[in-house]
Amino acid sequence: MDSYDVVVVGGGHNALVAAAYLARAGRSVLVLEKLDHVGGAAVSERAFPGVDARLSRYSYLVSLLPDRVVADLGLRLELRSRSASSYTPAGDLLVERRPGEATAASFRALTGSDAEFERWRRWYDDLEALARALAPTMLEPLVSREHARLRVDSVARARLWDQVVERPLAETLEELFTHDLVRGVVATDGLIGTHASLRDLAANRCFLYHVVGNGSGEWRVPVGGMGAVTAELERVAREAGAEVVTGVEVSRVDADGRTAEVEFDGRVVGARFVLSGAAPATLDRLRGREPRTVAEGCQVKVNMLLERLPRFRSGVDPGVAFAGTLHLDESYAQLETAYRESAAGAVPSVLPAEMYCHTLTDPSILAPDLVERGFHTLTLFGLHTPAALFEADNAGLREQLVGRYLAGLDAVLEEPIAACLATDAEGRPCLEARTPLDLEAEVGLPRGNIFHDGLAWPFAEDDDEVGRWGVETDVANLFVCGAGARRGGGVSGIGGHNAAMAVLEAR
Ligand SMILES: Cc1cc2nc3c(=O)[nH]c(=O)nc-3n(C[C@H](O)[C@H](O)[C@H](O)COP(=O)(O)OP(=O)(O)OC[C@H]3O[C@@H](n4cnc5c(N)ncnc54)[C@H](O)[C@@H]3O)c2cc1C
Repeated sequence: MDSYDVVVVGGGHNALVAAAYLARAGRSVLVLEKLDHVGGAAVSERAFPGVDARLSRYSYLVSLLPDRVVADLGLRLELRSRSASSYTPAGDLLVERRPGEATAASFRALTGSDAEFERWRRWYDDLEALARALAPTMLEPLVSREHARLRVDSVARARLWDQVVERPLAETLEELFTHDLVRGVVATDGLIGTHASLRDLAANRCFLYHVVGNGSGEWRVPVGGMGAVTAELERVAREAGAEVVTGVEVSRVDADGRTAEVEFDGRVVGARFVLSGAAPATLDRLRGREPRTVAEGCQVKVNMLLERLPRFRSGVDPGVAFAGTLHLDESYAQLETAYRESAAGAVPSVLPAEMYCHTLTDPSILAPDLVERGFHTLTLFGLHTPAALFEADNAGLREQLVGRYLAGLDAVLEEPIAACLATDAEGRPCLEARTPLDLEAEVGLPRGNIFHDGLAWPFAEDDDEVGRWGVETDVANLFVCGAGARRGGGVSGIGGHNAAMAVLEAR
């Protein structure tokens, strides 16, 4: 039987980060990926037959990947800032990347004074301070809740910790802001991939991950698409000596604390350590256990290729409106209504969603002739459509929702979005959609949860956890290295880094 120091189950971006760190530290590493390519939910693909457009098919923006991981591994990556932060057509609310006069004017027109914008400015300044305080802890052993609070208190306004961590986001937003739309735009960061009311602290946890990334909370565009991030990680892992095998599905993991066996495609390899880049629920199954119940994935993703960007009724330049995050039906009231209805088992009567155009910031994912002809990619990420809604008729509901999302967009456009869609080699519109159940089937995300399960606080929940890496299981030589690790969600490599550190420290 072949044997390795470390066998990694799954070849997502986190697994590659772990493999790279461990191989560079001299460990023999084998990565086993079920699909015919690595990257998991961090990939670029030619989604439309005969069209040379390499879309970030699932994840698309990077915030959580620490500069330190990029530097440690020598990743050749360009993460480019977007020229605008967000646009909300419902209130013609524009937020520049560095909010200035245009943002102030936009708030004034919406709310009738400068007060809301001042509050907005203070809030995001505070959150940057929070990000600077917490981000460095992500690649260290877990600190206690009290330690995290003191770090935040030392750099930020006294009540910030309470507002972000202790009290439901709903209370904080109701206290800080007066306008329903402004509250909604802030709130969406708490609901990405998270099926929760804003009165539930699950939204706070999601919010925290969306504002602390890399010490700034800025979401940037990976030049070349998300596949470029994975390609770099694969390069450094292989160059360091890791063996990366695709097209092999792991069917069993046995670990007793000192040795381990991993079975795939009728073969068995031995290992001193096993890391799971697959979701914790998947690992349960591989260990012959009952899979844990997972927080429902709740997003629909729609990818499009356009021949041109559509014009807006408001007259805003589409190159500005789509440069950042475009919010559709995401007022505070709409978000809570959609949650309430979907939690009760109904398809929401309003469908909150946000959109983003990669090619305005980075056209390199399109063939030069498509760039010249003015083509653009467009992505929609819908909230509060939990997996359970799709169980009766996945394809039917997917189609129905796509129709409703496009109608929601059309309501703010001068011309229907369908008129702008490019067509593929067979004459079909370049549009694809993925429900939570599709994501479970395609990428193995349990219940379509984009973070493998509900997000956990990025600090220890109890004393026993302080000083650990947040990747441990009940067995000493088996670690979680993927999004399911504490601090693991999103495209961050943090789970991979921390699992590698746990292995290197173990005896
Ligand atoms: C639609 C969508 C949009 C998103 N947008 C963003 C975004 O913009 N920014 C962001 O930061 N995050 C985003 N995310 C979340 C982010 O993509 C994930 O959290 C992240 O990719 C998780 O990486 P990972 O390496 O931990 O796991 P995964 O990417 O899930 O990889 C796990 C791998 O394990 C493999 N595997 C599973 N079981 C087995 C087995 N038995 N044997 C072998 N291999 C196995 C899978 O095939 C997969 O390749 C998004 C996710 C989705 C789905």
